[in-house]
Amino acid sequence: MDYQVVSVKQALSMPVGSAIEARGWARSRRDSKGITFIEINDGSRFKGLQLVVEAGAVPAETLEAVTTGSCIAARGQVTESPAAGQPVELKVEQIHVYGSADPAHYPLQKKGHTMEFLREIAHLRARSNTFGAVFRVRNALAFAVHQFFHERDFLYVHTPIITTSDAEGAGAMFHVSTLEPGQFPKTETGEPDWSQDFFEKAAYLTVSGQLEAEALALAFSKVYTFGPTFRAENSNTPRHLAEFWMIEPEMAFYDLKDNMQLAEDFLKYIIAYVMEHCEEDLAFFNQRIEPTVLQTLEHVANSSFEHITYTEAVNLLQKANRTWEFTPEWGCDLQTEHERYLSEELFKKPVIVTDYPKIIKAFYMRLNEDDRTVRAMDVLVPRVGEIIGGSQREERLDVLRARLVETGLPEEAYWWYLDLRRFGSAPHSGFGLGFERMMMYLTGMKNIRDVIPFPRTPGSAEF
Ligand code: ATP
Ligand code: MN
Repeated sequence: MDYQVVSVKQALSMPVGSAIEARGWARSRRDSKGITFIEINDGSRFKGLQLVVEAGAVPAETLEAVTTGSCIAARGQVTESPAAGQPVELKVEQIHVYGSADPAHYPLQKKGHTMEFLREIAHLRARSNTFGAVFRVRNALAFAVHQFFHERDFLYVHTPIITTSDAEGAGAMFHVSTLEPGQFPKTETGEPDWSQDFFEKAAYLTVSGQLEAEALALAFSKVYTFGPTFRAENSNTPRHLAEFWMIEPEMAFYDLKDNMQLAEDFLKYIIAYVMEHCEEDLAFFNQRIEPTVLQTLEHVANSSFEHITYTEAVNLLQKANRTWEFTPEWGCDLQTEHERYLSEELFKKPVIVTDYPKIIKAFYMRLNEDDRTVRAMDVLVPRVGEIIGGSQREERLDVLRARLVETGLPEEAYWWYLDLRRFGSAPHSGFGLGFERMMMYLTGMKNIRDVIPFPRTPGSAEF
């Protein structure tokens, strides 16, 4: 007899009577009146395939090895299922056990586990309902990102992971070095002598691909990067990772308005894509993780984003009838409590805050006429706070040089970045979307450690 090898997803829509072989990991096993019910899942769908093994259908010692967590292949006939919530099940004729899992030691039993516990078994948690759904959504979201830009003629570019610009200002950086710890060559003044290191100067893991993306935008007009970035921030919050993925589009001839419009179109597009392609997984998040997920996503798709300036935002925060942990004050960066208040409580939708004081933003943001604010934009969303940070970039050579001096950065280190303003400069803009922040927004997961397969945070890089 020939059995067609199919995924669980395919098996669930096979016609009754098909002879198939399905493979996967046993999620549960139940014995009742001589019949054994086994649910297998291979990650292709949230829903698993129910196997029905009648007494004597397979050898007793084989069936015994089919424990929760074991990996098996099952062959048999697709039959109509009497159970609710599934059209078909598999009437089993043969089972092959690839690997059993000792019930005394397999840590992922059917009962609910806490997120904290599951983080300690990150090598196994992808086999749970929650993390299966999270990583399928992650896959769909990444694909949606590429499709959005591809449809709009953006060039996908790769910017370096190792960088020697030491002060992009986005966050603390990790050193990259081949020098032996404890044997650092020293300069005359006792500083580490990086000129003897691999790159002959200090090198770091990148915090952002923006500066290089700007160089490419000034050749290809519209580009985007989508890669890992690193920040050695010792912040230990539920919204910060030391290693996270960022999407950074950069566009020549875009001003801040164009940039804001692109950010809004982009968020709406990727949300719509995931809602269309991950219905089953999102339904799970809505039911078990965060009851407002679907409602907020639908709301975003159908509303236009609020636009306010930083100065207006500070006024609104000061007028708000509540006590803050950090008192809102012009010239201070908005804290998460402020960002969430604006988007979650006041406007109840995504809010784009623009024109921040220059003193709290990076040197490359375009200076406004008032000489106090820059053409920055942050997109704030309910539950998460800041999800996008971006700006129109300073394209005027003299202004950019003055800003470098003002912020105490070495002009020499930015020689090539300044060259872009010397040779064929153009107005341009861009932004960065934190991929994991977007994942939190889509899934309702409360901790950023639970939307990336193997999180890196202070004190933690086990897997
Ligand atoms: P925050 O104030 O939340 O730390 P930021 O101002 O440092 O953010 P940007 O430098 O503008 O953020 O980075 C662009 C985007 O990258 C942010 O809008 C956010 O979505 C994401 N992001 C920044 N830092 C982290 C981090 N440590 N972990 C995960 N995502 C991050
Ligand atoms: Mn930060």
